[in-house]
Amino acid sequence: MRSLRSRYGEDAPALTLMAAKDRDPFLVLIACLLSLRTKDEVTDQAMGRLLKRARRPEEIAAMPVEELEKIIYPVGFYRNKARTIKEVSRTILQSHGGLVPRTIDELLTLRGVGRKTANIVLTEGFQQPGIAVDTHVHRISNRLGAVKTKTPHETEKALRQVLPQQYWISYNALLVTHGRRICRPISPLCSQCPVQAYCGRIGVLRSR
Ligand code: SF4
Repeated sequence: MRSLRSRYGEDAPALTLMAAKDRDPFLVLIACLLSLRTKDEVTDQAMGRLLKRARRPEEIAAMPVEELEKIIYPVGFYRNKARTIKEVSRTILQSHGGLVPRTIDELLTLRGVGRKTANIVLTEGFQQPGIAVDTHVHRISNRLGAVKTKTPHETEKALRQVLPQQYWISYNALLVTHGRRICRPISPLCSQCPVQAYCGRIGVLRSR
């Protein structure tokens, strides 16, 4: 973790940078929902437009869905996502007193929220321990040999056993950046890797 942090410490993914700025669980949740299958810069720009118009659940819940679609376009699946963030806002108002719930189980009851999003809201929004596992985290944790798992959910459970809790919050951001820059899905750049000495390179058939 120290090697990754010294390489990528100032280069966190967009959601982490946004959370560091706002520390607002609701905005982290909305950004996370917009970011699914969407490039960072597109999510950033959509969030920038949305923030000029609305920042609170009551504001988004009251917006016409067509206006939301227009604001968040061109994020992937923008029509579905407009409906999702409107419904999530309404649920937070009606069932949670206007506050984003603070437990994974409650977060998972919100429309469109899976384990990755729930963990990101916990870690980036509330600074509570959690491990958000996406394809980068799943792939790299297995390549390193830290876990031996088949699904992101299994990886999350296994990491909770082997990773010291002090690293949980930063693990996602560091591995996502590492996965984009060095430990790419196909032919990772092992010769430039800051953790090569600790890596089992499990399942890596081709590298540069
Ligand atoms: S040594 Fe290669 S496989 Fe292992 S973490 Fe680094 S880039 Fe990924």
